[in-house]
Amino acid sequence: MAGAGMMLCGKEEKVLGAQKAPGSCPYCGGGVAATDVEAKWVLCCLPLCRKAKRRFACTACARRLVSYPAILHD
Ligand SMILES: [Zn+2]
Repeated sequence: MAGAGMMLCGKEEKVLGAQKAPGSCPYCGGGVAATDVEAKWVLCCLPLCRKAKRRFACTACARRLVSYPAILHD
């Protein structure tokens, strides 16, 4: 397994903010939280790219709701 030497390369994530999302968790019916995350890939100290994304998770069972935007379509 690769381990040592990977310290400077990788992905950094910064949470920009969180808010309550409409709808409910498909697993338990709990509330859904939308978290805006800025992800930055770093390769040997050089920031490669930066991307903001929104992540949905249940506030009750803490499941990651990966396909949540599809549910919003309903
Ligand atoms: Zn849930």
